[in-house]
Parts: sequence; structure tokens; C-alpha cells
Amino acid sequence: MLNIVLFGPPGAGKGTQSEKLIEKYKLVHLSTGDILRSEIAAGTELGMKAKKLMDAGMLVPDEVVIGMIDSKLDTNKNAIGFIFDGFPRTIKQAEALDKLLGEKGTSITMMLALEAEKEELIKRLLNRGKDSGRADDQDTHIIEKRIEEYNNKTTPLKDYYAKQNKLKVIKGVGGIENIFQKLCEAIDNN
Ligand code: AMP
Repeated sequence: MLNIVLFGPPGAGKGTQSEKLIEKYKLVHLSTGDILRSEIAAGTELGMKAKKLMDAGMLVPDEVVIGMIDSKLDTNKNAIGFIFDGFPRTIKQAEALDKLLGEKGTSITMMLALEAEKEELIKRLLNRGKDSGRADDQDTHIIEKRIEEYNNKTTPLKDYYAKQNKLKVIKGVGGIENIFQKLCEAIDNN
């Protein structure tokens, strides 16, 4: 299987690049942010609880997102691989993912980490917020909180995967196509 963790701060381009990668490599896209937003849209209890945290730019509890990924892995038993987008975001989530994949006889192939400057991220997110209507993309304070959560809780994951020799860093600047080419090269040269 080809199992990719697409990593990077909010606004790095994970969603855009995931769409292109799933088309090319026929992978199943698992975005915990998307799953949470569909729970909110469906008005579930989980969604309502998560919304409060998401609107404040904070992470939802590990158990919640781990449970969601667990069930999505089960419902996609025939997948040839997965792109994990926005997951894992903490060491605990990464450990749980290794365990879940291990139980299925597979593992993470690589982490592709997209990097971009904070100013660029804020600019992109505010722009996206105009179309997406996402509350967490429309307020600079919430965006800053999300970037802070990323810096505190999520960046340690780079070390986690580097220790397993699975980290590949890609500069997330330049055109969408250009970044996509760099991601494909990293995958194809693996
Ligand atoms: P995203 O669409 O990936 O930017 O996620 C939007 C929001 O959903 C985040 O700011 C968090 O509040 C929540 N979220 C998404 N994925 C996770 C995760 N793996 N762990 C914790 N919270 C998450």
C-alpha cells in the first residue's frame, strides 16, 4: 500500500494537493477536518462538540479523531492506499495511526511536509474564507491560534517520522502545479 501523511500548517495547501494526488495515485483521501465538518453539517452531537473547539482554532480531542480514522479505515478495506490530510496532528494520534495500520498489516510509507511562511498562510486562509464560508478561515485571531496549535502540538511529528526515515520536506511556495510535481517526485523516487 501507499500510505502518505500530507503534513503542513493550516493554509499550506494540503487539501488542494490531496485532490490532485488522489486522482493520480488512486488513493483514498482521509481528512479529519472534512469529516468533522460533515458531522457539523449533519448536526450530530460529536459535530456540535467539535464545532466549539474548531471555531476557537483549537484541536479536538485525540480520541475523537482517532475513532473517526479507525472507522474510515474499516470502511475502505479494499483501498490501495490512503492520504492522511490533517491527521495525525499530535504524537498520540501518530502512535495510534501506526498501531491501527499495523493491525491491518500495513504502515505509513512517508510523510510529505509542506512548508510556507506564516504571513503567506494567513493571506491564503483569509482568501479561502471568502469563498468557503469557514468561520475559522475568516478571523485573523482564530487563524493565529490554529498556527500556534500547529507549532506547539503538531510540528513534533516531523521528528517522529524523521526518526523512522519517512520525512520528506517540500517547499509549499510557487504555483500549485509546481508543488504537485515536487510531491510526485518525492513519491515516485521513494
Ligand atoms: P483542517 O480542515 O484540517 O484545517 O481542520 C480544521 C479544524 O478541525 C482544526 O482547526 C481542528 O479544530 C479540527 N481538526 C481537524 N483534524 C484534527 C486532528 N487530527 N486533531 C485534532 N483536531 C483536528
